[in-house]
Amino acid sequence: MIKEDLEKLFMLQEIDHEMAQIHKQLNLHPPMLKRLENNLERKRKELEQTRNEQKELLKERRLMEKEILFRQEEVQKKQNQQMAPKIKQDAYNALKREIDKLKEEISRLEDKVLQYILKDEEMEAVFAEGERNFKHEEEDAQMERQRIQEQIDSKNRRLAELEKEREKHILLVPGDLLTYYNRYIKTHVPPVLVRVEQDSCGGCHMRILPQIIVEIHRGEKMVTCEGCRRILISKD
Ligand SMILES: [Zn+2]
Repeated sequence: MIKEDLEKLFMLQEIDHEMAQIHKQLNLHPPMLKRLENNLERKRKELEQTRNEQKELLKERRLMEKEILFRQEEVQKKQNQQMAPKIKQDAYNALKREIDKLKEEISRLEDKVLQYILKDEEMEAVFAEGERNFKHEEEDAQMERQRIQEQIDSKNRRLAELEKEREKHILLVPGDLLTYYNRYIKTHVPPVLVRVEQDSCGGCHMRILPQIIVEIHRGEKMVTCEGCRRILISKD
C-alpha cells in the first residue's frame, strides 16, 4: 500500500528536517564565539589604554619634577651668590627678583604635579575596577564558551544519531518515491510531503477537490498538489 510507503518517506523528511535545523543552529555558533572573543579583546584593549595613559601622565610628571629640581638648584645657587661678601645692593636685588620668579614657577609646577598625582590616583582606581570587571567577564566568557561547546557536542551527537537513522530508514522507502523526493528538494523549498489541512494543500494552501481527497485517504497512489507539486498525504 502506497500510504505506508508515503508515511515512511514522511519519516525520512522528518529526519532531514531535524538535521537541517541542527545544521542551521550549528552555523550560529562560530559567530557567537567570535562575538565573545571580540568583546573580550575590546575590553582588554580599553584596560591597556588606561594603563598607557597612566604611564604617559607619569612621564610628564617626572619631567615636571625635574623642572622643579632644576629651579630649586638655581634658587640655591642664587641664594649663595647673595651671601657673597661685598655684594652690591643692586646685584642683591636683581638676584632676589630672579629667586622670587623661580619660586613662583616652582609653586606653579608643584600645583601641576599635585594635579597629576590626583589624576594618577583616579586612574589607578579606574584601572583596578576595570581589571576586576575584566576578570569577571573572562570568567563569564569561559562559562559561555563551555556552554556553547556543550551545545555543539550535543548537536553533533544528535546529528550522528540521525545520520544512522537516516541510513536505515532510506532503505525502507521505495526508489521511485525517493527519486521524486530528491528531485523536488533539489529545485524547491521543502517540505516535499504535506498533509491535507482543511481540504487544502498543507504547503501552498490550494483547495483540493473532494474526489482527490478521497483518493488521498484511500492511499492507493501518489497524489501531488496541482499548485506546488508537493506529495499530499492524509491528515492521520
Ligand atoms: Zn500545494
